[in-house]
Amino acid sequence: MLDFTKVDAGKLELEKAPFEVEALLSELATVLSVSTMGKKVELIFDIDKDIPTYLVGDKLRFLQILINLLSNAMKFTLEGCVVLEIKQLSMESTVSRLKISVKDTGIGISADKLESIFDVFSQAESSTARRFGGSGLGLVICRRFVELMGGNLQVESEPEKGSTFYFTLDFPVADVEVEKPSDVISAPIRLLIIDSNDTSKMIFSRMAMSLGWSSETADSVRLAGPLVSDASVAGQPFDAVLLDCKTSDFAGAESIKQIESAIVVAEQRPKVLLMSNALDDQLDALTECVSGRLIKPVTLSKLSETVYESLTGEIRHRFSLQDTTDLSDSLLGITLLLVEDNAFNRQVATELLMSQGAKVEVADGGLEGVSAVLSHDVGTFDVVLMDMQMPGVDGLEATKRIRKEARFADLPIIAMTANVSQADKQSCFQAGMIDHIAKPLDIDQMTRCILRYAKRAEETVSSLKDEHAPRRELDDHSSNVVEREDLQSILSRFAGSADLYKNVVEGFRVEADDLLAHIAQGVEQRDVTHLIESLHTLKGAALTMGLPRLAGKLAGYEATLKSTDSDEEAVETCLSSIETSNLREMLDAELTVIINDLNS
Ligand code: ADP
Repeated sequence: MLDFTKVDAGKLELEKAPFEVEALLSELATVLSVSTMGKKVELIFDIDKDIPTYLVGDKLRFLQILINLLSNAMKFTLEGCVVLEIKQLSMESTVSRLKISVKDTGIGISADKLESIFDVFSQAESSTARRFGGSGLGLVICRRFVELMGGNLQVESEPEKGSTFYFTLDFPVADVEVEKPSDVISAPIRLLIIDSNDTSKMIFSRMAMSLGWSSETADSVRLAGPLVSDASVAGQPFDAVLLDCKTSDFAGAESIKQIESAIVVAEQRPKVLLMSNALDDQLDALTECVSGRLIKPVTLSKLSETVYESLTGEIRHRFSLQDTTDLSDSLLGITLLLVEDNAFNRQVATELLMSQGAKVEVADGGLEGVSAVLSHDVGTFDVVLMDMQMPGVDGLEATKRIRKEARFADLPIIAMTANVSQADKQSCFQAGMIDHIAKPLDIDQMTRCILRYAKRAEETVSSLKDEHAPRRELDDHSSNVVEREDLQSILSRFAGSADLYKNVVEGFRVEADDLLAHIAQGVEQRDVTHLIESLHTLKGAALTMGLPRLAGKLAGYEATLKSTDSDEEAVETCLSSIETSNLREMLDAELTVIINDLNS
């Protein structure tokens, strides 16, 4: 909304920075994979291979336009497909002209409503609004952004058939040297695509072609069998098979076996890669039977990486030239307590965390978790990872019990949960947890989350790093021990606008000053009720602004004060801990880092 007001007042300035097109697409794919969950709709990226690797422009706003249009398309399409097509229309004197279109086979929009969808606060039909929800502002912002970038957002639509939103933009090509890694596999890869959706099949064939691979397609597993055996007899076996889980006759492990065994010579067995919508519990069991998994929408780089990985066993980033930060020692110097009752999950999580250099202690269940914390000194554990669903004392109860001990008011407790509904998040926060990690666990996400809250002495890390890699120079990264919330994720709360964030900062500082004064006053007057209120308000503001360390501290105090049940000694301990905590310094430090990042 605020971003909109700025665009409307002509005050919004666009960024002009080089960005990598593939990186933008994979971010987009990650964001959108959630909207494919449990849907019958195919989400497909059809991206022209001639588009330059790096372009110059406002990546965040471009991303925001695409997210808006594609989420709308997914929302209003119950069956069929949604395709993002980006075509290079021309390339003249280092300016690439792109036509971007988002096409769906959804409910469509009637002719008389078409123009009003770009009006502020309009909904095509109020009944539609009731059915699908929404604020009616997304398209207005999209159209303004596209205009600011020099284009014109247009739409063609037919009720019951679907809609296409499209626009054309010019992007200067960035002056960045692009080095493509040399091929490890010299012969062209032969790919078989099994998918019942025609659009999807066509686009995957085109992707294969643009990678220099050869491909064939089949509509069903039944029809794929003979293709695999024919190719095998002809001495030109398929290297890899892309198998879409939505293929009409897909029958799990049975189908995979059927494909693999259609060969004449054992050595010709193709690698089967399973394609599906966002991680699907039912398919998890199949992961062991296949050589890899692809989550839709699939980008070109993801396809090539996954196929190469399955063929060579090596992880390889063919396109991504951005420095993928080496996470393998990113948790060095951090001690974690993992509270998890399920032995298998415990093992997986422990191994993942240890692979990042963390020291991990485990507790089998909530009760054990509480006693592990209470029986150790403050500072023993940097972070507690708490499973939510445990028999007996569950994660919420365990957290409440820990928070009752004032000396652990500061201890960051992170929930691990498969349910991340708003209500679940709320109960986590209320119990005194500071964040949550979604299950199934993703090691990168988990690492980032832990780093956001872990206190780790810089010297410890340096010395540990030295021990581990004596010849390695310490880079800037290693001294930056506290991982912050991703800039983009912070900005997503500000309609993707850095300007807007910066504008809000002043207001935030004033409010924070006020709240810090209230907190100091609350401590002085031993006014716990008001203190809890101020802590709570500042915590909320800090989370919005992307200051997790500060928010974590405040949440800890809040939860402790709430749970001390007028135990005076505990209250006193907590109050003196607040008194000596450097909340202001923490706020300033965290905020400065973000502002510097935004400015650079
Ligand atoms: P909202 O937040 O309501 O989705 P938007 O500005 O994004 O706001 O969209 C305005 C209205 O335009 C929607 O409520 C819907 O009625 C219509 N609309 C937008 N995209 C589509 C689409 N792909 N298919 C059908 N209707 C659409």
